[in-house]
Amino acid sequence: MSDLPSTALITGGSRGIGEACAKKMAKDGFEVIITYVSRPDGADRVCSEIEAAGGKAKSYKLDSSDSEAVTSFFKNEIKGKVKLDVLVNNAGITKDGLLVRMKNDDWNKVLDINLTGAFTFLRESAKIMMKQRYGRIINISSVVAQAGNVGQANYVSAKAGLIGLTKASAIELAPRNVTVNAVAPGFIKTDMTAELSEEVVAHMLENIPLKKLGTSDDIANAVSFLASENSGYITGQTLAVNGGMYM
Ligand code: NAP
Repeated sequence: MSDLPSTALITGGSRGIGEACAKKMAKDGFEVIITYVSRPDGADRVCSEIEAAGGKAKSYKLDSSDSEAVTSFFKNEIKGKVKLDVLVNNAGITKDGLLVRMKNDDWNKVLDINLTGAFTFLRESAKIMMKQRYGRIINISSVVAQAGNVGQANYVSAKAGLIGLTKASAIELAPRNVTVNAVAPGFIKTDMTAELSEEVVAHMLENIPLKKLGTSDDIANAVSFLASENSGYITGQTLAVNGGMYM
């Protein structure tokens, strides 16, 4: 057993679902490391709130799509410095547009951050977790990966890719007691969904059997279970947290 602190790394922890996951992981007893890309104020606030509640948290500005920077981050800040027990691959963006008008730049950016970024974090975490003979990796996918969605060919492809990455890496890492699962949120109230029109939200609500939008805490609670020792016989799965909605 290592004397290093048991740590959960959450990408994109400066707001929204990542913030809720970071706070829940801290409550669950992990030291927390969050990454962000554009909002140091958000990252500072999340860390201060965790510390004020008695937890430990650090933040790093780290663009998930910069694979060299991510690899260096693992080498300099993670390896041998913490006991990396949990990775939550949460950082994500949208750049919506109809398929026939979608620019390659918008395709590439979404794939680079949402899928390739998650792959780099997963690969670097796996190297450490395999040696530890313990790890919990949770990839944040989306209901649209399972159902498709108009105007989101890039995002849906990235999120469906994450489900494939989850299954493939779960099989490879299982012999070393490292589990890999995905959580597929439905419609969650965050900055990402704040710009949707009232009409679109009303239409979505009609299709949600539980008749309410989800919260970031709903997702964090599912992540908390998959990050715990209690989920040890679950791997390669996608847990839908969507109020019963399949669009
Ligand atoms: P959000 O409120 O827009 O927050 C996005 C987070 O990702 C922020 O912390 C942001 O950092 C970070 N981020 C963005 N680009 C990054 C990059 N290149 N490198 C590192 N960090 C980056 O989003 P959210 O709604 O909480 O969504 C979180 C995850 O859940 C995403 O993967 C999203 O696709 C997924 N999801 C969300 C919903 C939903 O309804 N909200 C539904 C299904 C799935 P900064 O603050 O520094 O910009």
